[in-house]
Amino acid sequence: MVDYIGVQRVQALVREQGTARFIAGLAHEIEADYRRWNVFTKSARHATYSPLGVIELMPASDDRQYAFKYVNGHPKNPAQGLLTVMAFGILADLETGYPLAVAEMTLTTALRTAATSALAARALARPGSRVMALIGNGSQSEFQTIAFYDQLGVREVRLYDIDPHATDKLVANLAAESLPDLRVVRCSSVAAAVAGADIVTTITADKRNAIILTPEMIRPGMHLNAVGGDCPGKTELHPDILRRTDARVVVEYEPQSRHEGEVQQMPADFPVLALADVLSGRCSARSSERDVTVFDSVGFALEDFAALRYVYRLHRQQRGDRFDIDLIPELADPKDLYALLRTPSRARERPAPLTEVARA
Ligand code: NAD
Repeated sequence: MVDYIGVQRVQALVREQGTARFIAGLAHEIEADYRRWNVFTKSARHATYSPLGVIELMPASDDRQYAFKYVNGHPKNPAQGLLTVMAFGILADLETGYPLAVAEMTLTTALRTAATSALAARALARPGSRVMALIGNGSQSEFQTIAFYDQLGVREVRLYDIDPHATDKLVANLAAESLPDLRVVRCSSVAAAVAGADIVTTITADKRNAIILTPEMIRPGMHLNAVGGDCPGKTELHPDILRRTDARVVVEYEPQSRHEGEVQQMPADFPVLALADVLSGRCSARSSERDVTVFDSVGFALEDFAALRYVYRLHRQQRGDRFDIDLIPELADPKDLYALLRTPSRARERPAPLTEVARA
């Protein structure tokens, strides 16, 4: 049987630890996996584009396990009461190919994206960064705020969304969390939100080359956590921000990011740094307090692999309701798959002995 880790189970696992602690634990797992980068079999995700969105398959494996995620991105979905991003995934044993778990990954993606953003910002942002602008206040935004509050020490978030109801929801959700000393400031424009920020997170959804941040908004030393541009033709930064001579651009997996990230706007030889190299200390992105660092996040399968393994481990360790599903047949004789279709009475009968069967 295959473990089933549904939305309710993930909710329970997160509540058991608290959201901030869960994200911190996940960031630790993701960092550990980035540090053993060479062990992984990696590939750019397989994307199927349609006029309104994208559906992607994201596989990754180490020397023991394999995982894939199915995820969509449909920015117009909320107008129909549907999520922009939803996902599910499978963790499997590499040796046998057998799935270990089928899991929800909508909540898990928001948690892992926040964990990865915070992980990258810890390596890239100026120490002492306390003020973050958060442009795009939809589904991912609470997760980002909690991760940056907990792991970076952000104590002021400056919010902007073209949809004021999204900001209302974010403000209400943050007020209900225990985030002492967090100052939440609603802003009337992107420029107002960005003014005075040490870190700017852009996490908007629009299927076009949107220009959320323009060069004059960027101050020396800022860290940009650019999360919403993650498909061909879907970006958030003006290309001149990337062209700044003091800008250092960090990507997750170069072949995928060059196609999907902000750097799709740049020539093929535009210099980028690999997050794995930054995290393992092989290179340093920030050489001065005045450098502008950009985490050009698109979401990489290794992060989902780490997230699935983390959720699976907690699921196995913690008490509570556990379910499994009969996704894979269990057979007395692995060559007798047809046993599943024999009529119940015949299925109970022993197969005829070989001697009674004519041999060709
Ligand atoms: P969502 O639809 O719930 O929220 C997006 C918000 O952006 C909405 O509230 C919308 O009003 C706002 N917005 C759109 N255009 C804007 C603009 N010009 N200025 C300000 N706000 C604007 O979507 P979500 O689930 O929060 O995802 C946000 C984005 O993050 C999506 O583009 C998604 O594809 C991306 N994403 C990336 C990763 C990653 O790993 N890089 C992971 C998850 C989601």
